[in-house]
Amino acid sequence: MEWRHGEGESEMANHMCDRCGGALVSITLRVSTGPRTMHSCSTCDHRVWEAEGDSTDLEGVLDELSQTVLPRQNSRAR
Ligand SMILES: [Zn+2]
Repeated sequence: MEWRHGEGESEMANHMCDRCGGALVSITLRVSTGPRTMHSCSTCDHRVWEAEGDSTDLEGVLDELSQTVLPRQNSRAR
């Protein structure tokens, strides 16, 4: 996963999807260790997690969210 170091100040602008360049929907969740922001692409369902503005390990986030109820989206029946 490449993370481009922004030219200039880090800003909380709308993120773009790394895959399709679509708009990401940001959802902030509060866990025991702090706020976690999930950027979910409505186009290709790509998800990026952030912890207090920094990218974090997805596994760690999922472990933290194991106790958090997440709304299910795009449930694919197969
Ligand atoms: Zn996308």
